[in-house]
Amino acid sequence: MFYLLEQQQAAAALAFYQQYYSQVEQINYPILTAGFNAAAAEALLQQGELAAASELAQRAEQSLPGDRNDPAVLSTYRVLTLLAQAERNFDNLLRYSEKRRDTELAIAREKASQQLAYQLASGEARLKEQRIQLLDKDNELLTLERNLYQQQAENRYLLLLLIGSLSLILGLLTYRGLTRSKRYRKMAEFDQLTGISNRYHFTEQAQREIAHCIRAKRPVALILFDLDHFKNINDRFGHAAGDWTLRQVVLSCRNFIRHSDIFGRIGGEEFVILLTDCTAEQASMLAEICRTALADIDTSGYQQQFKVTASFGVADSNQAGYDLSALLAAADAAMYQAKQQGRNQVYCPATADGAA
Ligand code: GH3
Ligand code: MG
Ligand code: MG
Repeated sequence: MFYLLEQQQAAAALAFYQQYYSQVEQINYPILTAGFNAAAAEALLQQGELAAASELAQRAEQSLPGDRNDPAVLSTYRVLTLLAQAERNFDNLLRYSEKRRDTELAIAREKASQQLAYQLASGEARLKEQRIQLLDKDNELLTLERNLYQQQAENRYLLLLLIGSLSLILGLLTYRGLTRSKRYRKMAEFDQLTGISNRYHFTEQAQREIAHCIRAKRPVALILFDLDHFKNINDRFGHAAGDWTLRQVVLSCRNFIRHSDIFGRIGGEEFVILLTDCTAEQASMLAEICRTALADIDTSGYQQQFKVTASFGVADSNQAGYDLSALLAAADAAMYQAKQQGRNQVYCPATADGAA
């Protein structure tokens, strides 16, 4: 209706009023009824029907609730003001103008406070939203931090695993290297067939022991022995039998050799024993024991019957001095002498009769 009034269509507004008035009244909502009557009064006023307009306007005023600041109240006071103006009733004009102004102010105030409340509420809502967003961000950060810690822990674990694996590999390589070098060293120092010192290692050890005896002013003796007709054993029973014999020779002599003595294989079937703190006489006795032990080797263990004998030469520091080469040469000459005299014997130039 107010729209129609604004468009100066009073008749249409009145037709609308008549069509819906009874329904509006049935709703029994005073402020709506007042607004409806006020609009109809204004339409009548636009049509110049003052009396009818005044009646409806008063009806509207009567149905106004006392404590409401509503556009319907404003419309009512507006039409009452217009009526007072048209009726030139200045008292009413003043009274309704004031009421109209008060209502306008009250509506404006209410609107302002509503806007303020709305702004406050929306501000709070925004604040809450921002707080939620901040919390979300916090959560994101915490998740990231946790992922980072997990990643770091995984990295640390992988690093430890890597270090562990590397250490293990390094350890294995070192161990293998050590074992290898130990094996190579053994191969370089010991005779593979018999397990005793080879010529190189014997020489090294013997020189050290001789030096020790020189310092201690103790005698040194040397026994050199060579198997007799060893070639025959190889020829008759095969090279393996020869090898077996060489091992048996070493095993037999070892039983009588002291821990401090140095036993070496310096040729194919040529052996040497360096005896520290030992005279030629004592060495001759040991040579004799070894000779007997070789002669007693039971070859039936090899399923063959043959004799193993050797010729022994003995020298000592009293006779040949402390030089290893000189001792070896003297013992070799004595051994040659033993061969010459018929083999399977000990020859020692230092002893009275020179033979065992
Ligand atoms: P003699 O009494 O004059 O010393 O005679 P012999 O036959 O022992 O000496 P000879 O020097 O003629 O022969 C030594 C043989 O030793 C020749 C060689 O084939 C053999 N021989 C050397 N080393 C080994 C070895 O490691 N194993 C075997 N089975 N035979 C070896
Ligand atoms: Mg020989
Ligand atoms: Mg020989």
